[in-house]
Amino acid sequence: MNQYDVAVIGSGPGGYVAAIRCAQLGMKTAIIEKYDTLGGTCLNVGCIPSKALLDSSHHYEDAIKHFEEHGIDIPGEIKVNLKQMIARKQDVVDQNTKGIEFLMGKNKIEVYHGMGSFKDATHINIVKDGKTETIEAKNIIIATGSKPSTLPFIKLDKERIITSTEALKLTEVPKHMIVIGGGVIGLELGQVYKRLGAEVTVVEFMDRIIPGMDGALSKELMKVLKKQKMQFNLSHKVKSVERKGKEVIVKADNKKGEEVTFTGDYCLVSVGRRPYTDGLNAEAAGVKLDDRGRIAVNDHLQTNVSNIYAIGDVVKGAMLAHKAEEEGVLVAEVLAGQKPHIDYNLIPGVVYTWPEVAAVGKTEEELKDAGVDYKVGQFSMRALGRARASMDLDGFVKIIADKKTDEVLGVHMIGARCADLIAEGVTAMEFRASAEDIARMSHAHPTYAEAVKEAALAATADRALHA
Ligand code: FAD
Repeated sequence: MNQYDVAVIGSGPGGYVAAIRCAQLGMKTAIIEKYDTLGGTCLNVGCIPSKALLDSSHHYEDAIKHFEEHGIDIPGEIKVNLKQMIARKQDVVDQNTKGIEFLMGKNKIEVYHGMGSFKDATHINIVKDGKTETIEAKNIIIATGSKPSTLPFIKLDKERIITSTEALKLTEVPKHMIVIGGGVIGLELGQVYKRLGAEVTVVEFMDRIIPGMDGALSKELMKVLKKQKMQFNLSHKVKSVERKGKEVIVKADNKKGEEVTFTGDYCLVSVGRRPYTDGLNAEAAGVKLDDRGRIAVNDHLQTNVSNIYAIGDVVKGAMLAHKAEEEGVLVAEVLAGQKPHIDYNLIPGVVYTWPEVAAVGKTEEELKDAGVDYKVGQFSMRALGRARASMDLDGFVKIIADKKTDEVLGVHMIGARCADLIAEGVTAMEFRASAEDIARMSHAHPTYAEAVKEAALAATADRALHA
């Protein structure tokens, strides 16, 4: 029987990063993945393919809407070739998953393909094509991730009533896509198909989209997406989803309790994701789950069984690839006897619509609730030379700082390239910068990053220079 210092179950960003860090630290490491390709949700049916389609559809939209103004004439009709778009996406996915295979080899990590399940606290059965192999490991890291969740009364047929997984490989552009859930995944994929020509209607239970992010971002994003002709129905409680031939009928109750009917040809159910522990047989190792079906862990991501850890989407906290990665590194370093730490307040959240939305730290609502005395500096993208040059005028940067100490408590932004810009907010907060610190740093001109400096200037004695 093969023996290891560490065995990782699941090869998503949590699992494969944990495996690499364990190997770097000298541990004999194995990784187990039930699918044929490595990389988990993120690389196969999550972050990477969704961004590939967002990029392709963005190019198309630019071509049909903005090229003329830029002085680029394309003779003839510009058409979407969805088959090629999906094929390119798959190519991007394949390059990435092969990259992980390469990294496993480079780090001498043994890869097992098959369903991993606990035999006991130090043994894992791996089942592939009806054959079982058992391996032994001193320590085990559960990184089994998550799956799309649904509502109890919805029957996903995976053809027209679909989750994000199917939305990444449609064979036609929907005429009318009804998106249940105005969170990150629904809005990103909704925008893809909107750009490609679908009518898109979002039905959201809460009174705002991207709940959990700063309210100012929700408002601005909805304003911009409405301008792009996406339709929103907030405070609507979906109560049935039915398919009749090629039609999908969604019924919901609005705020007043009146029934509203939406009819489309596709319905994307994007109401969140659930932790995935099916078939893991965690009970055999004595590992406990919490009341929401997640693997219960302490601050060191250790389960109730001392040699078993869990990371990523299968444990509490934000379901984000970079959060899973940080946790993978943390567990590897804990196992190596180090004392690593994760500041969960500094895990940025990003929505890759265009304009992009990104945030780190506390929202204004959270600070209000906590009774913290704060001040806000906000600066509009449209006042930037860079934004005018590219005609990406929507959005703003909002910096929230402690009223007394000036320490930055939250950075919230919406606009072009904010997914990348947010790293400045994370760095500033990691080093406990004041708004004044950011305000005094030179930011290259002309860039979108100047909005960060200007928002910091606005937060400190209202002295933005270009407002
Ligand atoms: P996963 O990536 O889910 O990986 C778990 C792996 O474990 C899977 O490969 C699974 O097959 C395997 N597995 C499960 N059980 C077993 C078993 N018993 N035996 C063997 N293998 C098993 N996050 C971001 O940060 N940025 C984004 O832009 C982003 N976009 C997204 C877009 C979409 C459409 C979706 C669905 C998600 C997106 N996410 C994004 C979320 C991100 O994908 C997850 O947070 C991330 O993949 C979690 O990583 P993980 O390692 O915990 O689990």
